[in-house]
This record gives sequence, structure tokens and C-alpha cells, in this order.
Amino acid sequence: MADSQKLEKYLELDQGGNVQVMYVWIDGTGENLRCKTKTMNFEPKRPEDCPIWNFDGSSTGQASGKNSDVYLHPVALFADPFRRGPNKLLLCETYDFDKKPTESNCRKSCKEVMEKVKDAHPWFGIEQEYTLLDTSNHPYGWPESGYPAPQGPYYCGVGAGKVMGRNIVEAHYRACMYAGIKIAGSNAEVMPSQWEYQVGPCEGIEMGDHLWMSRYILLRVAEEFGICVTFDPKPIPGDWNGAGAHTNFSTISMREKGGLTHIYKAIEKLSKMHDLHIKSYDPKDGLDNKRRLTGRHETADINTFSSGVANRGASVRIPRQCAEDGHGYLEDRRPAANADPYKVTERVARTVCDVSN
Ligand code: ADP
Ligand code: MN
Ligand code: MN
Ligand code: MN
Repeated sequence: MADSQKLEKYLELDQGGNVQVMYVWIDGTGENLRCKTKTMNFEPKRPEDCPIWNFDGSSTGQASGKNSDVYLHPVALFADPFRRGPNKLLLCETYDFDKKPTESNCRKSCKEVMEKVKDAHPWFGIEQEYTLLDTSNHPYGWPESGYPAPQGPYYCGVGAGKVMGRNIVEAHYRACMYAGIKIAGSNAEVMPSQWEYQVGPCEGIEMGDHLWMSRYILLRVAEEFGICVTFDPKPIPGDWNGAGAHTNFSTISMREKGGLTHIYKAIEKLSKMHDLHIKSYDPKDGLDNKRRLTGRHETADINTFSSGVANRGASVRIPRQCAEDGHGYLEDRRPAANADPYKVTERVARTVCDVSN
């Protein structure tokens, strides 16, 4: 009997009126997630119902051993698709002993900016690309030595040998829906074993909250399958597509009739802040993304800003349909798959809605 089957009978046991809450947070890398569980004697309905908690920050790159307690402040609550029932997933911000946000807590300042621009009703939709690896870091389903056939048949592909890992994708999709995440779709990507799902549209701070929890759920689902997920923006060097986190964005004026003028105005502003954006679009101030944004494989060169209607080789694309409708949104294709959505959405909102640094 598989371990997962053995587990099932225990998960059916009565919880005795208690609820398990999985506290989830971003660790010191600004890229990886951590989690631990707390028993509560009632079912929380809002994040504020859950107590502030703490953890050993010296083990997560968030504090020194001598002063190791880091605080977890609950910020977003989701249904738990793994434990189900009344159990919850709880996203948290991290704070130092002196009540300052830790270095990798980019949510606090993002939320402040979203508050300032709330009248513009900023909507985001992020396309999260990722790659599946086996536990020895080899792309999942690739031949043991050598490479699969060149790219071409894999994007939105169907059939054995064309797609790898669909069970994980399907499990993740449904688990996100159950949790209450605004997952918008999914597709197989250009490189075999690479996939994408989209989250959005989300308004303001909700974008980062939903995307981070969707990543957590993906990592957990894949863990059950014994598969690793990497968000590295260029996991396989050479003639293989990288992985991005295309960020679709609109304000209320862009969505209304005649909004195209506002989309072009936004692109003009983005073009003047290119370097600052690149710094915010991966966890290493552009170093990770440099391997991906080469000007090839549906990317624009990292050093040059460009834009265009339906142009997938540009930094920023206006979807064809939006150009035809005369309103809609823009797509910033620069963010890396491992970007922090709080940093990305804060940067976009600052530039387009004129919030100074
Ligand atoms: P692509 O053609 O680039 O692959 P996708 O269909 O994968 O595009 O993703 C488009 C994303 O844009 C979705 O996440 C969707 O929620 C988001 N989106 C749609 N309309 C808007 C809008 N008005 N503002 C912001 N995001 C939007
Ligand atoms: Mn897409
Ligand atoms: Mn894609
Ligand atoms: Mn896209």
C-alpha cells in the first residue's frame, strides 16, 4: 500500500472540534517558503482571528542565533486543500523582534503603495511559469542522458512524450480552486516539463497573497508526487525557453472606453524606469533574470526597453485584442518566474500611478 493510502485513515479521524492552521511565510531567501502548524480551538474566518506567532529565524536566514525569534503576522486565510474540513492555510508577514519588517518582507511596503493608489483600482494577473525536476534536479521525464527532441510540439501539447507531469498540474489547479485562490487557467509550456498557470485578475495586495499561496500549494502537491518544482528563470541553459512571471496590469482608466491612450501613457512611464524595474523583477536584483532575458526565446534583451502590440519579443506587450477593443491592459513580460509578486506589483503601481520612491 502506498504511504499516501496509509495516511488516509488517519485523516478521517475526528479532530475533536479543533482546527489545524498551517502558518506559511517567505524565508530569508525571498524566494522559498516555510510552514508550521498550530492547533486552534475554533475555526478562524479571517486572518485577524489567528494569533501572531513566531519561529526560529536563525534557521531560515531571518535572524541571528542570539536573537532568533521572528514574528508571524497573519495576513491572508485560505481553505486547506490537503487537510480539508475546517483546516486552513494562513499566509503571514515576518517581523523582527523590534517590530520592523524583516528584509524579505516586501508585503508591508507593497500594501502601503496599494493603499495610496486604490482609487485607480489596479488589477494584476500573473502568469506563473515553472519547471518540474526529479529529486536529483534532472528535468522530470527527460531522457537520462541527452535531450528531448527540440522545442515545438510541447506548448499546449497533448499526448505521451509531449507533456510530462500533467497529474501534478491537474491536482494543483483543483487544490487552488478549493483553497479560494483566483486561478485563471493553465497550459503546458514551450520547454518539455515546463508549465504555466495564471492567477488573477486580482486587485492590489491580493495579487501577491494569492500568487504566493498558489506557489506553496504547488510545492506541496509536487512533494506528494516526489517531484521538485523550480521557479528558476532559466533552468536549462541553451536552446530551451526560460520561465517568467508575465505581469498583466490595468487601472480603471485603461479598462474603460478610450483606455488605450492610458495604456500608452503607462508604457511611456515604464520605459523611463527600466533599470529600476529589472532590479525588482527577480530575487537577485537582475542577476537571475540576466540568464533569461537574452533577446531570444520570446524575451527582450535585459538592457533595452521595448514595447509593441502582440510582440512577444518585447519587454511590454499590448495584447492584440486590447489594441482592437481600444482598452484593456498591458503585459510586462520582464519579471522572472522566481520574482516576488509584492516587489513586482509595488514597482508597477509606483511607476504607472506616480508614487515616488
Ligand atoms: P498570454 O497570452 O500572455 O499567455 P494568459 O492568458 O496566460 O496570457 O494570461 C493573461 C492574464 O491576464 C490572466 O492572468 C488574466 O487574469 C489577466 N488579465 C486579464 N484581464 C486583465 C486586466 N484587465 N488587468 C489585469 N490583468 C488582466
Ligand atoms: Mn500565458
Ligand atoms: Mn507562458
Ligand atoms: Mn504572457
